[in-house]
Amino acid sequence: MIDGKARLVSEITCDGLGACVGECPQGAITVETREAAPYDERLTLDGLIPKGENTLKAHLKHLYEHSQTTFLNQALDYLKEHNHPIPEFKEKTMHSGCPGSAPRNLSRPAAGPVAADAPRDGLTSQLTQWPVQLHLISPMNPVFEKADLLIAADCTAFAMADFNQKYLPGKKLVIACPKLDQNQEVYLDKLTALIDEAQVNTITVMIMEVPCCGGLLRMAQKAAENASRKVPIKAVIVGVDGEVRKEAWV
Ligand code: SF4
Repeated sequence: MIDGKARLVSEITCDGLGACVGECPQGAITVETREAAPYDERLTLDGLIPKGENTLKAHLKHLYEHSQTTFLNQALDYLKEHNHPIPEFKEKTMHSGCPGSAPRNLSRPAAGPVAADAPRDGLTSQLTQWPVQLHLISPMNPVFEKADLLIAADCTAFAMADFNQKYLPGKKLVIACPKLDQNQEVYLDKLTALIDEAQVNTITVMIMEVPCCGGLLRMAQKAAENASRKVPIKAVIVGVDGEVRKEAWV
């Protein structure tokens, strides 16, 4: 706070996440996209430690809850090097960020299989959690604990007639586009955390048959390689006509 106003005094101490935007009671904060010097974790800690233990704890908790593993490890290394005590920051919370991405548990009874010629009216959504976009979910959300996880490329649900009724029941969902989405290193960290921290039971990766979509399966496999525990991965390949071309454990 400077002269009664919150000011960002150095942009290299801002990780660009934008979590503060939804917290500002006056709606005074906006995020702009432009070239900037990279975020510097050590410099951030230099300025943050004098502000006290609660500030340091909140910062570490923020990194932990947003799966910022690289920055969190840099922070922990810094604290060890400076013989600074490390506060307990691994408290699980449901959400921090804008209200629109707040998790909601939409529990519903699972539907049985739907016959191909069944009438379409009266169908119930099988989505049981919110949010679903991979940038918005937190692997620390308890809904993911030991869940069967469906990682779906954005286009699949639109291409398929029965995505919701056939592939969603019994699963927790995350969606992403491996071609167009930004900051995909965050995706890798989150998927790794879903395997290691949430201990998901199985992963089903649903992608379109077009080559650009294969990146999502490779990302899931890379996360599985990075993780310290094993998880079975199934690939479901969807044609642009909405038909499943192939379904196999990989
Ligand atoms: S990679 Fe292509 S097909 Fe896959 S979700 Fe993105 S735009 Fe759709």
